[in-house]
Amino acid sequence: MLECLDGPEGCKGKVEYRISPDRTDMKAFPRCEAHFEERLDQAEKNLELMSDTVPSWFDPAYAGERWYEDE
Ligand SMILES: [Zn+2]
Repeated sequence: MLECLDGPEGCKGKVEYRISPDRTDMKAFPRCEAHFEERLDQAEKNLELMSDTVPSWFDPAYAGERWYEDE
């Protein structure tokens, strides 16, 4: 019986070994469906941060922050 890495609180669905897309080592960790979905959201943001393009969720008007430092 696998145990969710982020559990037991908030666990939902089946626990399986799942690979996060932002990991380059392709290691799989046991997670339930709910926590894997959360992890995927995080992975998406991590991937955006690692890329050089401005992520879709980044709003340059927010708090006067700018993505590019030397503009
Ligand atoms: Zn879980």
